[in-house]
Amino acid sequence: MDFSPSPRAAELVESVAAFVHQEVEPVAEEYHRSVTESAASGTWAESPILEDLRTKARGQGLWNLFLPVEHSQEYAEKYGTRGGAGLTNVDYAPLAEQMGRVGHLAPYVFNCHAPDTGNMEVLLRYGSDAQRAEWLEPLLDGRMRSAFTMTEPGVASSDATNMAATAVVDGDEVVINGRKWWSSGIGHPDCRVLVFMGLSDPDGERHRRHTMVLVPRDTPGVKVERLLTTMQTFDEPVGHGEISFEEVRVPKENILLGEGRAFEIAQGRLGPGRVHHCMRLIGQAEVALELAIRRGLSREAFGKPIINLGGNRERIADARMAIDQARLLVLNAAWKLDTGGPLNALSEVSQIKVVVPNMAQQVIDMAMQLHGGAGLSSDFPLAGMWTNARALRLADGPDEVHRGVVARLEIGKYR
Ligand SMILES: Cc1cc2nc3c(=O)[nH]c(=O)nc-3n(C[C@H](O)[C@H](O)[C@H](O)COP(=O)(O)OP(=O)(O)OC[C@H]3O[C@@H](n4cnc5c(N)ncnc54)[C@H](O)[C@@H]3O)c2cc1C
Repeated sequence: MDFSPSPRAAELVESVAAFVHQEVEPVAEEYHRSVTESAASGTWAESPILEDLRTKARGQGLWNLFLPVEHSQEYAEKYGTRGGAGLTNVDYAPLAEQMGRVGHLAPYVFNCHAPDTGNMEVLLRYGSDAQRAEWLEPLLDGRMRSAFTMTEPGVASSDATNMAATAVVDGDEVVINGRKWWSSGIGHPDCRVLVFMGLSDPDGERHRRHTMVLVPRDTPGVKVERLLTTMQTFDEPVGHGEISFEEVRVPKENILLGEGRAFEIAQGRLGPGRVHHCMRLIGQAEVALELAIRRGLSREAFGKPIINLGGNRERIADARMAIDQARLLVLNAAWKLDTGGPLNALSEVSQIKVVVPNMAQQVIDMAMQLHGGAGLSSDFPLAGMWTNARALRLADGPDEVHRGVVARLEIGKYR
């Protein structure tokens, strides 16, 4: 195992950490207020704060840092800073951790946010030249947003073979019908394309029945029925939508990779784009621990600083150990991805998807408790961070499904 960052990555960690601390943290609260107020007034708008920060970050070369090394050289030659920095996953993990410290804003500042990163990876890996020109370029350039529409209200979507919305080829077109929900990013005013997964051949082999298609957001028949709340917040301006598709027609050229090949794409998509949130959650847990200690040292009850009451010192120690364990597990998964690709890292990727959100949820919960009532208020970022960690125990597939993968691979060794 080699978890040491390249010299370039070590420099970038310093730059990203400084940028987050000096530029992003001071405006994070104002940004949040601005987007929630705009959503409350009925118009979902992006705050100009983001554009200013993006321009600055890009000017310093802190842009598309997630872009996998195998692609960034090609893109760097063509587009300069749009090409990222040629980093491995091990290199990228500590950068994402820094971005995670202000998770609702910093990843967007550096164009390293979900679901666009995952969708960009799909286009990089499987997109045709025409698809890349139309959708990937503006995404890399930060001129638009995208959504990934797989989950459906009508079926248990933790089993992707259940997807029932249809994407059927009809001559030169694909006809799409059905309903999706939890499509993150659809609320953003710049969201212009959806990666849609639909049933195209119900009688085919189980993993050859589904197709992925690019659907422009403004295609007739695409309707956002409502935006869902996550634990009572809209997560604006990103938003998670329930979308109906009624006789939606797109050109056949919008199919990704080929008919019936959605699962091949889903497997490729299991890679880097799906572990970034674990990397960012380490940063969130660090913030929670820091806040817990500062609060515990600065307030007294029963004649002692709160940090010295009851089992609080042990809780702090447990949190430190849990974060460090989780970080090492994330680096291990990143190293396995770097050295053997997604199929070499199936267990490790599933392991971190269980371990990290659960760890972050517990550490953040401890910090909330130590803050008393303040911990649940909006005066501290803890409640929002807890919601995020809780949601990530489902958003990328439920814990149970990832545990199932780990168990299958483990037991398989002895069959
Ligand atoms: C904040 C948020 C953002 C999301 N963003 C997106 C997005 O952008 N695009 C998208 O397509 N989807 C998105 N999702 C949806 C998410 O991927 C699904 O909710 C998840 O895959 C589970 O599917 P389901 O909700 O249909 O639950 P179900 O499949 O109905 O499962 C319900 C429960 O059954 C149990 N279960 C299921 N399988 C097993 C098993 N094998 N073993 C044991 N127990 C099991 C688990 O407890 C599970 O939680 C998002 C969800 C959230 C909360």
